[in-house]
Amino acid sequence: MLRIEKPSHITQTFGVNARNGIYDSKGHSGVDYTTGGYGEAVESIVRGVCEVTRIYKQGDDSRIHYWAVYTQVKVGNKYHQVSYGHLSDIKVKVGDKVRLGDVIGYEGNGGTVVSGGKRVTEKERLNGSQKGHHVHFSVYPVDKSGKKIDFSYNKRGTIDPSQFYKKSDVILPTLRKGNRGIAVKFLQLALSKHRYRLTSDGVFGPKTERKVIAFQKKSRLVTDGICGKATWSRLV
Ligand SMILES: [Zn+2]
Repeated sequence: MLRIEKPSHITQTFGVNARNGIYDSKGHSGVDYTTGGYGEAVESIVRGVCEVTRIYKQGDDSRIHYWAVYTQVKVGNKYHQVSYGHLSDIKVKVGDKVRLGDVIGYEGNGGTVVSGGKRVTEKERLNGSQKGHHVHFSVYPVDKSGKKIDFSYNKRGTIDPSQFYKKSDVILPTLRKGNRGIAVKFLQLALSKHRYRLTSDGVFGPKTERKVIAFQKKSRLVTDGICGKATWSRLV
């Protein structure tokens, strides 16, 4: 099972256009999600063992304060650098081996973040504001040494993390009516890509169930409306 229940919802999808001058024309370079609150544990959401390759701490005076953990993971015969940004604290160190579900740090609002359409100001951050807390999750293709490669199909060199899930051996959880969270969002996005359009609100309601059943029917799967291993494997 993929332990992905903790990141409760996506706050900013990959590749969205420039907003408030925060993102350049290439769009948002990752997926933002929140684990539920400022200071909440941020877990590795990548299956398998990956190594912490870099800890990035910019501006410890908290004025520009951007903290991130970079891990490297091999998927098939390709390497990827996976990063978790805007942390309020970091629990790992370079060289640590990280498994799925290991806590790597804590959610924060460091760096340039937006809350309610406005940048969280330096003053707010210095006052310990919890506005705009989230994790910026991004994936770069890298070579074995960790050097970034292939900037062709990207937003600042990154690839869509949902694509990354597709290519990885991440096992997605069995989902049914009543479930909520980031995994449900991925399911809804995946269904939409298969032309079973849905709003990605992260709530597995009757509408999502109907689309799952329709997809299962078309794919000649058991039409139980439950997204398990067989359904996932056809979806992604
Ligand atoms: Zn982001």
